[in-house]
Amino acid sequence: MEQTENGYAIQGVNLLEVAETFGSPLYVYDADTIISQYKRLNNAFGDVKLKIKYACKALTNLSVLKLLRAQGAGLDTVSIQEVRLGLLAGYQPEEILYTPNCVSFEEIRAAVEIGVQINIDNISILEQFGHEYGGLVPCCIRLNPHIMAGGHAHISVGHIDSKFGISVYQIPHVVRIVKTYGMNINGLHMHTGSDILDSEVFLHGAQILFDVAKEFQDLQFMDFGSGFKVAYRAGDVTTNIEDMGVRIGQKFREFCDSYGRELELWFEPGKFLVSESGYLLVKANVIKQTTSTMFVGVDSGQNHLIRPMMYDAYHEITNISNPNGTKRVYSIVGYICETDTLGYDRPLNEVREGDILAIHNGGAYAFAMSSNYNSRFRPAEVMIYQGVPHLIRKRETLDDLTRNQVVLDV
Ligand SMILES: *Cc1c(COP(=O)(O)O)cnc(C)c1O
Repeated sequence: MEQTENGYAIQGVNLLEVAETFGSPLYVYDADTIISQYKRLNNAFGDVKLKIKYACKALTNLSVLKLLRAQGAGLDTVSIQEVRLGLLAGYQPEEILYTPNCVSFEEIRAAVEIGVQINIDNISILEQFGHEYGGLVPCCIRLNPHIMAGGHAHISVGHIDSKFGISVYQIPHVVRIVKTYGMNINGLHMHTGSDILDSEVFLHGAQILFDVAKEFQDLQFMDFGSGFKVAYRAGDVTTNIEDMGVRIGQKFREFCDSYGRELELWFEPGKFLVSESGYLLVKANVIKQTTSTMFVGVDSGQNHLIRPMMYDAYHEITNISNPNGTKRVYSIVGYICETDTLGYDRPLNEVREGDILAIHNGGAYAFAMSSNYNSRFRPAEVMIYQGVPHLIRKRETLDDLTRNQVVLDV
């Protein structure tokens, strides 16, 4: 969003007017930001055959999926439901990677029937897969290179105790299974966590995958996962995509030369593509001065944005109703009946009851992790596309809360 003479705008569309038209709380996404992030990553790797698979768990709205497909993205999915959403958004099965963790073999079978690229992350499933399909259905193997990387412990998935992936130390076992069943391993994958700053981490992981690749002759692609760090506040250091592209691109070309075939290089960013595109617009219901703190209580909370409470995440907050107001320090809290803080001790332009606040980085893991806790409705979603705000999901109503309830006659 940019500051203009009369407030804040996205693509020239005034955000206060958007809040007035569609109500609050409201998620607003800037399609241009999604497109420019996609292009930035897509352009970073020179002449490598790059494929970007959007990790759609970050934000699965069909209009977002369609927007990314129109840019050329494929999809990374973690459940059969995400696969089906991808199909609804127009993705071809072969454009979809399915990377589940701890799902039943029935669900994997359903994904095979749809025809998506399967990614297997444990030895038991690998063995069942080999037993059932032999070499008829190719599959990718998710490896755990055991590099400790990423932000909060809950989103760091590459460490030795992690439940994700097959340990690189178990490669001899994997190779025995693959030989026994004559399996076709067409890809190797790693995803070590979120909020990785340093391209060294990707290079280190890449090197491990390159070494392992010698054991497999049918590879078509290598997937280095995701975890690119985005800015949460002004001045935040972020992954240097261009530098990473040059360095990984070069290593990857060298690897392809030694492997003897040109493979595709895949990444599967979620946050990087959509985080900064989104804002959660909320309204200040009450200003409450206690003996120690000035609270702003808003018409939203952890039910719509759980990251601050769950991961101690910092989300920038702007008072878009009073751009020239004197700065004062506030704690911004939600209306959920337990500790529900969206931001501590934030200097905001003076907040008056009724003002609209924009919570930044509301694109990734915001709506996607929202709930009906306290029987609150999930907000509407709006996408600003080609200079026009479009409603892309309606606000919930009481019907949504009762729809699947079967009321007992008591
Ligand atoms: C969550 C996830 C991603 C995306 O992570 P971001 O930090 O949002 O980029 C990619 N791949 C897999 C397998 C994931 O589970």
